Amino acid sequence: MNEKTEGQKLSEKLFYKSENAFEKLEKAESEKAFEYCKGYKKFLDEAKIEREAVKCAEAMARENGFVPYSFGDELKIGGKYYINNRGKSMFLFRIGSENIKNGIRIAAAHIDSPRLDLKPRPVYEDSGLGFFKTHYYGGVKKYQWTATPLALHGSVVLSDNSVIDITIGEDENDPVLYINDLPPHLAQNQSQKTLALAIEGETLNLLVGSMPYPDKEASEKIKLNILSILNKKYGITEADLISAELCAVPAAKARDAGLDRSMIAAYGHDDRVCAYPALTALFDGTLDSTHTVMAVLADKEETGSDGNTGMKSALLRDLIDEIARALGESPALVRANSKCLSADVNVAFDPNFPEVFEKRNTAFINHGVVISKYTGARGKSGTSDASAEFLGHIRSIFDKNGVIWQIAELGKVDQGGGGTVAAYIANLNIDVIDLGVPVLSMHAPTEIIAKLDVYMAHKAILSLFNA
Ligand SMILES: [Zn+2]
Repeated sequence: MNEKTEGQKLSEKLFYKSENAFEKLEKAESEKAFEYCKGYKKFLDEAKIEREAVKCAEAMARENGFVPYSFGDELKIGGKYYINNRGKSMFLFRIGSENIKNGIRIAAAHIDSPRLDLKPRPVYEDSGLGFFKTHYYGGVKKYQWTATPLALHGSVVLSDNSVIDITIGEDENDPVLYINDLPPHLAQNQSQKTLALAIEGETLNLLVGSMPYPDKEASEKIKLNILSILNKKYGITEADLISAELCAVPAAKARDAGLDRSMIAAYGHDDRVCAYPALTALFDGTLDSTHTVMAVLADKEETGSDGNTGMKSALLRDLIDEIARALGESPALVRANSKCLSADVNVAFDPNFPEVFEKRNTAFINHGVVISKYTGARGKSGTSDASAEFLGHIRSIFDKNGVIWQIAELGKVDQGGGGTVAAYIANLNIDVIDLGVPVLSMHAPTEIIAKLDVYMAHKAILSLFNA
């Protein structure tokens, strides 16, 4: 082999290069990543909405020795606790042996994903067909939700306060729901419209039946038949649907994608692809941190993080303050010294649409976990923008622990942008930076991620906990 020239050696030393992680990983490590993703796929199938994600996380937490915590409870060093917040968000933490004034190491991800929620009065019939009205949740391209099998997930609260959990459409023998679209033969006008207008929100109606209730005298017999099926199976009435949260999500299961099986196609990678690594890092057998560590699973990110289960709520602050007080330290000091990874997805470069990306500052599938110093849109508006010092700290932790990472923005400067929960955590005087997994077709009913990148998210979070 030829000796490297001085220029080649110098460029190796001076250039920053991001490359496909398969090029630099040992085979054993990529096999580990593939193995890790088996558990992730199971989580994807079991936790399609935030309520189910909390149930899964609670079961995993209990298996790993975590116990429920309420404000005012005593906290012990080495103790493992969780708060299940209204069944929709969750805080899991382990009290470390070092002084709590050194802060908490936090990973915060969200467990809600874009979908179609049922309206409070969803059921109606029209022209021999029964439907449920929906109101979309989060940023969706509406046309993508038509003509595809959908499942119904969620809970109905009866007037006696009992809660009925519902899942229809996941078992192979279950029926599925569906949203009609026009055939191309009659879409002359529709196809002249922009994508945003071709399917309007009020046409996202779930087809739920076509069979009349067998009674000559009854009215609205298709609607009646649907309600009678729901009543027989779940004991609910139309009024009960008012106090309900029912969501239509894609009926498909997570699948390996690509002939090389290097990727996963699934609904709602955003942001369970970060929530799962936050959990597995907390439960990892090699977690030997002396710090107090915490995983946060937030709700409502896709609608702006408002509400008592979203990250704008006071709960994170309250919890940190309670932990500090219980251990006899200043809450303000604990927050000031805490460090957080705001674990959320980023957009992966897509060679089919290169025009929206700035290639030098975009994430690539398989290049590892993505760090984003800032998010926001139109002049970084709405971002907390991590400091260079904190990014430097994180970078050195990742390099020390063999985490393969890349740095990126979300698309071209004037093209759009997005936000995460980072700003709400930073506003509590906590050092925070965005970190996540690059996604293709983000917010589509089926999204794509690479297995290596999910595994690197796990390693990244674990390394912050251990640092
Ligand atoms: Zn999102």
